[in-house]
Amino acid sequence: MRRRGAIVLTFHRVLTDSEVQQTASLPGMIVRSSTFSGFLKYAAQTSEFVDLSRDPEWQPNGKLKLAITFDDGWSDNATGAYPSARQYHAPIAIFIVAEKTGTTLPFWPERTAATMDRMAKDGPGRDALYIERAIEALKELPASERELRIGQMAGTPGVLQSMGVATSVDRTMTWQQIQELHSGGVTFGSHTSTHEILTTVPTAQAEKEIVSSRDLIQEKLKAPCSLFSYPNGDCSAQVRGLVAAAGYKFAFLNQDPGVWTRDCDPLLIPRVNVCEYHLVDARGDFSPLIFNYAVVWNAAKGLLAQMWKANRQRRKNKRQTGTPGLWKQSGKNQLEKPY
Ligand SMILES: [Zn+2]
Repeated sequence: MRRRGAIVLTFHRVLTDSEVQQTASLPGMIVRSSTFSGFLKYAAQTSEFVDLSRDPEWQPNGKLKLAITFDDGWSDNATGAYPSARQYHAPIAIFIVAEKTGTTLPFWPERTAATMDRMAKDGPGRDALYIERAIEALKELPASERELRIGQMAGTPGVLQSMGVATSVDRTMTWQQIQELHSGGVTFGSHTSTHEILTTVPTAQAEKEIVSSRDLIQEKLKAPCSLFSYPNGDCSAQVRGLVAAAGYKFAFLNQDPGVWTRDCDPLLIPRVNVCEYHLVDARGDFSPLIFNYAVVWNAAKGLLAQMWKANRQRRKNKRQTGTPGLWKQSGKNQLEKPY
């Protein structure tokens, strides 16, 4: 991996221990502040940080290359992650949801989790795993159907606040915070206008999410916005086409872990999702061993699959055209039986 490319990490939230007690975000989105500092300290010593505001340098220099990204634009990115990143001179890129800035409980998974958690306290028990599975099932539905079901659960911020759910930690950055971080060197990209999963909405709506978010970010920051990340990491050939037409330079996935190599489609760059249990040992301290196992090795497995797929495509093209070295980018589910 040191020779071939960079690992792009996806973080969401960096929370203090007391914020962890209050949040409705699922564990897969959370890293504790002390863990994040421990990770940055280790990474600063052993790796090279990649600045996503510049074109990648593919020259190997013997160190593992790491890019740090955040999805959603939570306010803790400004209060928790940014000060640590500055301390360790780590460039970060944050993908914001342009029409959901400065909002409490901006996204339906937190609203749903908060509602279900509240219902559990009042009635029959619903454990964390149940809530997580329910949210994954809701992600599969068309957006309109999902809204209907969530509405039936009274999962709106107003209703939740009247139920007394503690929500103050679950809010997104304001434009003022975003502008301050931007002046401090943070790179901002789009994560759509309202965080719709783009494969579950009509094409015209997906296009609007992709285009108008970019326009708004550029207007507010008075700077180009050339990076995009797909909500929930979900993409299709059609959605990729819309992102290309909108003029984005790099777009990031978050489904199958992998490595960003020279051969990658610049609009389908794999990332590795990182949360607390990918980083800490049994005592809760940052562990290089766990990080290397849960993050770096996972990316390596993805890289092997990428290389195998590219190699197979190259052979196939050679058989078809007699021209070596030419290969088309293949789709996500085109892995066939090994031979
Ligand atoms: Zn997101």
